[in-house]
Amino acid sequence: MTNWSARSWRDKPIQQQPQYASLNELQMVEQQLKKFPPLVFAEEIRALRSQLGRVSQGHGFLLQGGDCAESFSDFTAPKIRDTFKVILQMAVVMTFAGSCPVTKVARMAGQYAKPRSSDFESIDGMSLPSYRGDIINGADFTEQARQPDPNRMINAYHHSAATLNLLRAFAQGGLADLHKVHKWNMSFVEANPLKEKYMQVAEQIQSALKFMEVLGINAQSNATIHETQLFTSHEALLLSYEEALTRTDTLTGLPYDCSAHMVWIGERTRQIDHAHVEFMRGIHNPLGVKIGPTTKPDDVIQLLDVLNPQNEPGRMTLITRMGADNLGDALPSIVRRVKAEGRHVVWSSDPMHGNTVKAENGLKTRNFDAIHRELRQFFAVHQAEGTYPGGVHLEMTGEDVTECTGGAYQISEHDLTQRYRTQCDPRLNADQVLELAFLVADSLKE
Ligand code: PEP
Ligand code: MN
Repeated sequence: MTNWSARSWRDKPIQQQPQYASLNELQMVEQQLKKFPPLVFAEEIRALRSQLGRVSQGHGFLLQGGDCAESFSDFTAPKIRDTFKVILQMAVVMTFAGSCPVTKVARMAGQYAKPRSSDFESIDGMSLPSYRGDIINGADFTEQARQPDPNRMINAYHHSAATLNLLRAFAQGGLADLHKVHKWNMSFVEANPLKEKYMQVAEQIQSALKFMEVLGINAQSNATIHETQLFTSHEALLLSYEEALTRTDTLTGLPYDCSAHMVWIGERTRQIDHAHVEFMRGIHNPLGVKIGPTTKPDDVIQLLDVLNPQNEPGRMTLITRMGADNLGDALPSIVRRVKAEGRHVVWSSDPMHGNTVKAENGLKTRNFDAIHRELRQFFAVHQAEGTYPGGVHLEMTGEDVTECTGGAYQISEHDLTQRYRTQCDPRLNADQVLELAFLVADSLKE
């Protein structure tokens, strides 16, 4: 294989990139970004990699989730806090009710670039370039907004830095303290039948904490009680940005993409001889690869050969997103082959992206039952094959949105317009996430 450098992807064919009007301006932005401080630190990236290594051996569970796309306009403390709380709440249910330690990886602080199925969008006879995420262009349907602007990368960097700063404060500054577990509930979950079940978990945790205190185990000074560890991730789609944030770690001399702890390659950009795979093979972060319903076992093995030639546990997470109707046919042969070859991977389920449908009013939606069905089948296939189902990857928000149909409140297609706020794909709301958390916890216990 040819030598790798942070820019060797530039010699390969590439999908899903913007066409900037001024290359000069693009280069100026890249130079500026290269001088900015890294957003995360290599030692933290290694910590995540080693946790995922344990998950791949069947110890622990990966919870990855957040918005489909973050946005510059929807950038507020309550928004960040509420998504964080939903992640915490789901993690605590899985840790406690599912008796399994959870590694939390947010789709936050950098999830700004989106692959699109079409380069253009047409409305009322007018055709404009598709929206590709706030790091590239604007969502408004105007010629000006849809023009890709490299300066948006600088803006994305600052938004990511501020988001990460607040997440770190929340994780270590008291919000994630297990004594406050009952406060992670969103106020609108009040009427949810599962609220009782969650409050029972919260009470059991409080009793366990009290019991430890009685025994003299000092919960007051124990960091695992007061703090949490939250990692960040996004799709590494816009390679100019990812290259500029790739740094050589002084301790090990190895390159890390310091834009996030974990990065993944999407279903549309994982061609073996193309630019995204080339870039990802050289960075030392834990990597995700999305695996769609048409993927062949050979494709997966080739990807693992290139991305993880030493077969190191913790390096690779295979995120299957096949759709509830396809998973039963498509997943077993892949799982069997990866197992037969003794490859170490974390198997994670993205039950969202294979289940996107268009409602009658034209809005993109996903049905809770299809999401749940894909997850259940994911667990069943791994049980049948003797492999370990190690994670979930969700698009979710702490906001009270109506974007996915079904769930405890039976959101109908008709209800979607009430609070449909996503920049891109439909997300689970906090009620639906809580429901899914208990379902996953039950599967983990089995
Ligand atoms: C995503 O995770 O938002 C996404 C676009 O996923 P996929 O590549 O699996 O379609
Ligand atoms: Mn999405």
